[in-house]
Amino acid sequence: MLTLTQHLIDNQWVPSQSPHTQSLYSPVTGALQAELTRGSVADVDHAVHAAAAAFPVWSALSAAQRGQYLDAIATELASRAEILIADSVRFSGKLISEAQLDVEDAIACFRYYAELANTLDAQQGQVRDIQSPGFEARCYRRPLGVVAMITPWNFPLVTAAWKIAPALAAGCTIVWKPSELTPLPEQYLAACAIAAGLPNGVLNMVHGDGINVGAPLCAHPLVNKISFTGSNAVGEQVMRAAAQGTRPVSLELGGKSPIIVMEDSDIDNACDWVWSGIFTNSGQMCSATSRLLVHQRIAPALYAALKLRAKEFIAGDPAEARTSLAPLISATQQKTVQAFQQHAKQDGLVDLLESVPITLPASGYFVRPSIFLNVPSDHDLWQKEIFGPVLCVQEFSDTADAITLANQQQFGLAATVISGNAQQAHSIAQQLVSGVTWINSHQFVPAAGSWGGYGRSGIGRELGPWGLEAYQGISHIYSPT
Ligand code: NAD
Repeated sequence: MLTLTQHLIDNQWVPSQSPHTQSLYSPVTGALQAELTRGSVADVDHAVHAAAAAFPVWSALSAAQRGQYLDAIATELASRAEILIADSVRFSGKLISEAQLDVEDAIACFRYYAELANTLDAQQGQVRDIQSPGFEARCYRRPLGVVAMITPWNFPLVTAAWKIAPALAAGCTIVWKPSELTPLPEQYLAACAIAAGLPNGVLNMVHGDGINVGAPLCAHPLVNKISFTGSNAVGEQVMRAAAQGTRPVSLELGGKSPIIVMEDSDIDNACDWVWSGIFTNSGQMCSATSRLLVHQRIAPALYAALKLRAKEFIAGDPAEARTSLAPLISATQQKTVQAFQQHAKQDGLVDLLESVPITLPASGYFVRPSIFLNVPSDHDLWQKEIFGPVLCVQEFSDTADAITLANQQQFGLAATVISGNAQQAHSIAQQLVSGVTWINSHQFVPAAGSWGGYGRSGIGRELGPWGLEAYQGISHIYSPT
C-alpha cells in the first residue's frame, strides 16, 4: 500500500508535520489503496513562507524567461504522460481515454501560457491615451504575490494547470493544495515542474483535506490571492476567508447546464452530444449538460437512440480500453447520486434507462446511469448539481420557452445547442446565460478560450488572457509630457 506523507516545499520533499493520515480507497474495487497525510497548519505556514521568499526573484524575471520554464514543464509532463495517466485512472477512477485528455489538455495549457508569456514584456509600460493633454500614462501589470490554489479531483491535472500556468506566467508564486482524493497525479505534476528546473519555492504543494490544510491556507496572511475550484458550499467558505484581509478570489464552482436539441437536429449526432455531455467522466463534470431540453417532435427518436446506446455500456475497470462506464470517485459520491435517483423514483419520475440491462461490477463505486423524463422545473433533480450520470429531460414545442427554461437556473457555466440550422443555433446560443456554449459539438475547451460562468458558477474567468489577468494587478504611472 502507498503512503504519501511528504509535501513539496522550497523544492524539497519534506515530511509532514502532522502524524495524521487519511485512507484512500480504489474507486474501482473499494479496496484501501493509499494513506495520505492530512498536512497541518505548520506545513501550510512553512510552504507559504517559502513561496513568499521566492516571490521577489521569480517576479523580477522577464515574462519570457518564465515562459521558458512553462514550456519545460509541458515537456516534462509529456515525457511522463504514461505515469500521469495511470495515476489519474487509479485514483480518480476515470476512463483511460478521459485521463489521456486530462493530461493532453494540461500540457496544452502550459504551452499556451508559455507562448503568451513571450508577448508580455513588450506590453509593459505601454503608453496609453488617457485623453488628458499634457500628461503621459504608462500602464504596467504586476503579479499579485503568493497565490493559494485549491483544486478538486474530477480533472485533477487540467484544473491545476489552468491555475498554475497563468499564475507562474504572471510572476506569482504558489502554494497548492490538491484534492485529497487524487494526490498522486498532482504530486507528479509538481515533480515535473521541479524537474523542469523551476527555482526554489516558486511552486509548493501541501497535501491534506480542507479543514486542516485548505482553510488555514486560505486564511494565511501572506497569501495575496486565492484561486479555488470546487463545490459551492466550500467556495462560499473560501470567499469568507478571502474577505479577511480583503484578498482577491477566483471561484470556479458548480453547474447545471442545459443542452437544447432542436427539431431539425440529426438524431445520431444529437445522441452523441447528449450522451457525452452527461456520461463523460460518469457525469462528474462541472460543465455536464445535465438538463436536456428536446423539441417534442424529435423526442421519441432521440429517446430510442439513447436507449439503444445505453445497451452498449460496459461498466468495469477504467484502465481497460473497452470500458465505457467508470465508477464514481468515492462511496460518498456514490451514495449522494443514488439518493437523487431514489428521490426521483419516489416522486414517480420515469427513468428511460430503467429497463436497459446494464451490469455493474459487484464492488467499487459504480452507479447505474439514468435519464429521467418530464422532470418538473422545480424538482431538485432539475435544479441541483448531482455530479453523476443522471440526465433530466423536458420537452418543448416553442423555442422561446426552451430558452427561458434553460436560463431558469442558479448557475450559468455551460450550454450546448444542437440544430441543423447554424444561424438559428447561434441566435439561441446568444440568448443563453452561459460562460461557454457549444454548438453541434461537445465540451471543447481550448486554452486560448475562456472558462467560468455566471451566477453561482463562480467569480472570474480562467484560460486565455483573462486567466492570466486573474493573477495580475494594473498600475499606471502618470507624468507630465
Ligand atoms: P469540494 O468543494 O468538496 O473540494 C474542492 C477542494 O476544496 C478540495 O481540494 C478540498 O479539499 C478543498 N476544501 C474543502 N474544504 C475546504 C475549506 N474549508 N477551505 C479550503 N479548501 C477546502 O469539491 P470536489 O468534490 O472536490 O469537486 C466537485 C465540485 O467542483 C463540483 O461542485 C464541481 O462542479 C466543481 N468543479 C467546478 C469546476 C469549474 O471549472 N467550474 C471544475 C471542476 C469541478
